[in-house]
Amino acid sequence: GNQQRSEVNILLLGARNVGKTALTVRFLTRRFIGEYGAIESIYSRVDRINGQEICINIWDSQQPGEKVSSISDKQLQWADGMILVYNICDRSSFSCVLQLLQLIRRRSRKPSPVPVVIVGNKRDLRDHRRVSGEEGRLLALTERCGFFEVSAAETYHGVLLVFHRLADLVREGRALR
Ligand code: GDP
Repeated sequence: GNQQRSEVNILLLGARNVGKTALTVRFLTRRFIGEYGAIESIYSRVDRINGQEICINIWDSQQPGEKVSSISDKQLQWADGMILVYNICDRSSFSCVLQLLQLIRRRSRKPSPVPVVIVGNKRDLRDHRRVSGEEGRLLALTERCGFFEVSAAETYHGVLLVFHRLADLVREGRALR
């Protein structure tokens, strides 16, 4: 029903330390704190996007080990959309995104593919960049995902765009069904 349609569940995935919590906190509070505890939780924010009120629920997942990539069935079932985060200064975190994509595509039992936005974070650390913007963009294009490079440390606006873009993709998908 209508009630359900105004809720969007967003799951954040990615290697450790790429900035998943920083992005979540930035989106929720407009702030960047710097250090975050390893608490896995679901947060909510009610927002108005294109004139429509929408409740965005965010599951900021924490990877149990050094190695990605695990996604629980519960997470797959829960998520309406996913944000896959890597750190532009860490090539292995970029590989993780590809692994995660493959895992999601293989394991999802939903009728249509879940919308995904790929995010290259820590754009402010440009002197340490190991993954070019082009590579990120190309991966997103190939995998039919949205793509953004952002800095959770520097700006709120770019982070806001990520969440809103994904919420839009989720709602577009629902409208087609
Ligand atoms: P998570 O493990 O993916 O949730 O990563 P965190 O959000 O805990 O961030 C890991 C570390 O990276 C923390 O020390 C953050 O302060 C730092 N960090 C997160 N985002 C950025 C960013 O955009 N730029 C910089 N320079 N540091 C960041």
